[in-house]
Amino acid sequence: MKLTIALSKGRIFEETLPLLAAAGIVPAEDPESSRKLVIDTNHEHVKLVIVRASDVPTYVQYGAADLGIAGRDVLIEHGGDGLYQPLDLNIARCKMMVAVSNDFDYEAAVKHGARLKIATKYPQIAREHFARKGVHVDIIKLYGSMELAPLVGLADAIVDLVSTGNTLKANNLLAVEHILDISSRLVVNQAALKLKYSTIQPVLDAFASAVPA
Ligand code: AMP
Repeated sequence: MKLTIALSKGRIFEETLPLLAAAGIVPAEDPESSRKLVIDTNHEHVKLVIVRASDVPTYVQYGAADLGIAGRDVLIEHGGDGLYQPLDLNIARCKMMVAVSNDFDYEAAVKHGARLKIATKYPQIAREHFARKGVHVDIIKLYGSMELAPLVGLADAIVDLVSTGNTLKANNLLAVEHILDISSRLVVNQAALKLKYSTIQPVLDAFASAVPA
């Protein structure tokens, strides 16, 4: 039976390779060097489709892919409709944080009832975080280079992923609040899991046995 797996390039793809290997799946090409969006594997019926990280849940939701791997950040923003999320793969780990300019007094600004301008690629996560604190926010949606926003006065703070912290440091920003721990999860189309159970379940089991500690 045919199986299509949606992946994004870069870190998720690289850290997924050992999991695919555990399921006996070896991609025929590296998407980093190939321009192909559909990558064959050593199994005639197993294909990988290479999409934007934030589009993975959409491909799986509509059944264009049976399985996918997406960050918790992306899944929260998507909402998770039509998806099972059976497995935390413990890969592409990082933290969702609030960060401000080194010279910005966040403690003073974030008082209950205050109003802050927040630049982010993650409006849902940012809105929920500040709602819990009783802080009003104007969300400014950006698609990248969030770190620039506080430096040029576009926002008081950003909500962004932090891994090593080097990007913040290089831009004179300071992480002031931890919102969520992020890792990537396996997502499965709900109908596909029923219809292709005998094909999908062994892949889920192999992934589960190969999840890094
Ligand atoms: P770092 O400088 O290592 O803290 O990395 C921060 C930059 O990498 C930010 O621009 C983040 O948006 C991005 N980043 C870090 N970790 C991840 C991840 N797991 N998935 C996607 N983007 C990430």
